[in-house]
Amino acid sequence: MKWDIPTLEELENIVWKCTACGNCKGTYEFGPPPTFGEICPAGVEFGFDGNMASKGKIAFARGILDGELEWNDDFLDAIYKCTVCGGCQNQCELDHKPFIPEIIESMRRKAVNDGVGPMPTQKVIAQSMRSYNNPYQGPRRVRTDWTRPFKKAGKPIKDIMKKDAPILYYVGCTGAFNLPVRNLPVATASIFQKLGLDFGILGENEICCGSTAMRLGDVDEFKRVAETNMKTFKDLHDNHGVKTIITSCAGCFRAIKKDYSLSDEYETLLGGIQVIHTTDFLYSLFKEGKMKFTREVPWKVTYHDPCHTGRHLIEYKIDKDGSQQWIGSYLGKNEEHCLYDIPREMLKALPGIDFREMDRIRSNSYCCGGGGGVMTGYGDWASKNAGLRIEEGMSTGAEHMISICPFCHFNLNEGAKRIKSPMKLYDLVELIDMALPD
Ligand code: SF4
Ligand code: SF4
Repeated sequence: MKWDIPTLEELENIVWKCTACGNCKGTYEFGPPPTFGEICPAGVEFGFDGNMASKGKIAFARGILDGELEWNDDFLDAIYKCTVCGGCQNQCELDHKPFIPEIIESMRRKAVNDGVGPMPTQKVIAQSMRSYNNPYQGPRRVRTDWTRPFKKAGKPIKDIMKKDAPILYYVGCTGAFNLPVRNLPVATASIFQKLGLDFGILGENEICCGSTAMRLGDVDEFKRVAETNMKTFKDLHDNHGVKTIITSCAGCFRAIKKDYSLSDEYETLLGGIQVIHTTDFLYSLFKEGKMKFTREVPWKVTYHDPCHTGRHLIEYKIDKDGSQQWIGSYLGKNEEHCLYDIPREMLKALPGIDFREMDRIRSNSYCCGGGGGVMTGYGDWASKNAGLRIEEGMSTGAEHMISICPFCHFNLNEGAKRIKSPMKLYDLVELIDMALPD
């Protein structure tokens, strides 16, 4: 299988387009009232005008390409102290805008290729992926522990390899192995059963989507699991009746939709299969009148936009042939695939919900701090950053924060504990499950 994953060298022309203007420092909304907010978690914690934010990281890329920089600990630290949230990308308006996270990840790919990356604390992820096919060092049999209550209640969840179903629920490693996040697959499966959907899981045969490996620059490991998954999905489609893959993890969703599409066999293997995030899938049923909320959820809530279901799904328009401006110029963006309105509309439709909006939302959302390998590599910073986001949520008067990503779920709850906030992070599916009748 051939992959179109650019090396840093292939992005050489792009890295020179950054003017170090510093626009990527914050978000601006002209209002009224006008608002400004910091957007780069690395800049907030380590200083925007040093090496840590986008312009500093791009300067490093130039240094590597020029041959003026040799790998050293400080430099490596700087490129891994980034949540790859795309906040900087959303603010920048120059021609390298579509490629900013790619520049950062291509430096990581080079670091791994040169045998110096990722950071020592993150190497456990790479080892775990090779030994366990997941980043959590979780034995295969533990992957289905969350399904036990369903079995006990006489409503077991189908193993799709043994019993065909049109829907594969791809659970993801975080929901399966990370104990505080197990509510998420439980609520998802509970909703599917309440709605009478015919679905199954891969169970012990599920392996990681490869998102974390890709974000850390371990491209060989990413390709290994991505190729295995795509072949499994094709087999499920051809031989087990699967037409739709639903994932409730923002990282899995981005990986399968976007990272896998860099393969030359993407269309051959995944053509004919709909890959959809749980929120989007449930929204369609809601709009068709197939999901009626009858129970009150009398909570004051705010909503946190995960980077992977927001900014990471923006499509950038580039003038490829110079017919509109000049070759390679950035022409604009398309946000139609970003899950911004759908979760908000669903939340507001739940009886009893009092919805409050934070200042930094949608493409200006402030990352929870857990992405890009930061939760594993720099756990203390990840939870500190999450505490900042929780404070922002609390300032709206909300009691709880809602999101649609198990990574955000875990990290924001860690942030809330750290600042001793009573606010808790819930996934939207947990609230939907509460509002649906049995
Ligand atoms: S990345 Fe864009 S916004 Fe940031 S310093 Fe460079 S040119 Fe300016
Ligand atoms: S991707 Fe996010 S954390 Fe990384 S430099 Fe850009 S804004 Fe900062």
